[in-house]
Amino acid sequence: MAEEKKEAKKTEQKQPKKPKKSLYKIEGDKIIRTNPHCPKCGTGYFLAVHEKRKHCGNCAYTEFVK
Ligand SMILES: [Zn+2]
Repeated sequence: MAEEKKEAKKTEQKQPKKPKKSLYKIEGDKIIRTNPHCPKCGTGYFLAVHEKRKHCGNCAYTEFVK
């Protein structure tokens, strides 16, 4: 059995935070939110938009899209 080489300690790479998607659009001096927000949690919580449903990660609110 060949001895496995010890791997060097993995250095944590800190990556700058990238915006997932653009949740906001800026038109003029208005900010338009491209995703719907949760009716239960308020405007700070966006719904994750899936193919047939929208889901709130905070309160598990799910809205089905027809
Ligand atoms: Zn919610």
